[in-house]
Amino acid sequence: MKTVIGLEIHAQLLTETKAFCTCEIDVNAKPNTNICPVCTGQPGALPVLNKKAVEFAIMAGLALNCEIHEISSFDRKNYFYPDLPKGYQITQYFHPIATEGYLNLDNGKHVRIRRIHIEEDAGKMVHSSENITESKESLIDFNRCGVPLIEIVTEPDMEKSEEAKEFMEKLRDILRTLGVCSGNMEEGALRCDANVSVVDDNGRSSSRVEVKNINSFRYVQYAIEYEAERISKALKDGKDVKHETRGWNFVTRTTVSLRSKEEENDYRYFPEPDLPILKVSKSQIENIKQNLPELPDQKSERYVKTYGLAKDNANIIAKDKIISAYFEKLVSSKMDPKDSSNWIVNDLLALFNADSVDFNPDKVPIESLKVLMEYTNSGKISRLSAKEILGEIYKNNNNPQDIIKEKNLIQVSDENSLVPVIKKVIENNPSVVEQYKKGKTSVVGFFVGNVMKETKGKADPKVVGDLAKKILDGEIK
Ligand code: ZN
Ligand code: MN
Repeated sequence: MKTVIGLEIHAQLLTETKAFCTCEIDVNAKPNTNICPVCTGQPGALPVLNKKAVEFAIMAGLALNCEIHEISSFDRKNYFYPDLPKGYQITQYFHPIATEGYLNLDNGKHVRIRRIHIEEDAGKMVHSSENITESKESLIDFNRCGVPLIEIVTEPDMEKSEEAKEFMEKLRDILRTLGVCSGNMEEGALRCDANVSVVDDNGRSSSRVEVKNINSFRYVQYAIEYEAERISKALKDGKDVKHETRGWNFVTRTTVSLRSKEEENDYRYFPEPDLPILKVSKSQIENIKQNLPELPDQKSERYVKTYGLAKDNANIIAKDKIISAYFEKLVSSKMDPKDSSNWIVNDLLALFNADSVDFNPDKVPIESLKVLMEYTNSGKISRLSAKEILGEIYKNNNNPQDIIKEKNLIQVSDENSLVPVIKKVIENNPSVVEQYKKGKTSVVGFFVGNVMKETKGKADPKVVGDLAKKILDGEIK
């Protein structure tokens, strides 16, 4: 059995105004306040295309290695639903702005992108119950109606649910780096529908099932896994798999049938008569291309090549433009790149990940991390103390020097204060000393551990180890 996965992704573009009118886009606005005759489909109202939306679509197309078409056009996709006051969605069906791109996954898989087109979002339905069939009333907010989207359609090139998840994450990182989409799946700014089918060992393919309502990156994987298993089981049992649209229910972690799949001709697509053909010149495209920011994969490669970072660290830092800017500032303030990357990935980001929040440089200013790194490297504080202080800064945004002073964390490394402590530990453990004398030098670690305990972690373990050996060898009386 082989699973075949293709994705259809809708990404809300971060323009200030809507796709075909001048209504402001503001997710925090009161319902039905950012609306006008155009986006509510009043008779006689005419759409005017938002230039910024076109520019953003071209940026995404170029970043995804697509061919950008100098000529594309808009069409009407007709369907009736309360969140669509015009009775049709303006989209690009016959001539999309971008086609034939690709995105490479980390395992080297080349996922082809069939097309990227510009379209408009529908309004937002709010039901009185999570379960639509139990809902007594439904409200509609038209603020989202007419917000520009790009729809990205892949070829069915993925075989594993993890690949689909990685595709979505890489796509999010690219769109965020470009600044064209917030990439937030939970808020619906990035939405993914997955087309799943299963081919059995005799090469027979099931019908294709479309799974909708996947609202997180984890669920991309779970929903596809669930669906692939459901279809495989049906195939094994000799049952029919219906060509249908199913919805992911994140509470039960299952998919449920929503409707039998409409055929494309049900939408009665025809060219939008109210909008002219969309023309962009070669020079405009070239200009946008020249101004594209460095993309995550390129950046990661540069980090590996010029700074010698480990590939994993480079990827984690490069995928987020705020994290990479932080890293680069640290490096440009003369901190060692590898050391910086380890601190950021292992210590700093771990704090944000533990709280499931996005990295925010204000919580740990670069200056603070720099002080911690310098103190650690010069042996003034232990690595363990530094970690503790970092957590403190993250929580309370304190100054590292104040925390070090307040908690008395300066590492003890001078002989005069350490030797008596080490001697005491050695005296208290004659049997271990016996082992050392018989040649088992690894027991030095035992003494170091005990000295660390005695000094509440403030002793410099390396210095303690050296002194302990000297004492045991009789070099220090
Ligand atoms: Zn409007
Ligand atoms: Mn669409």
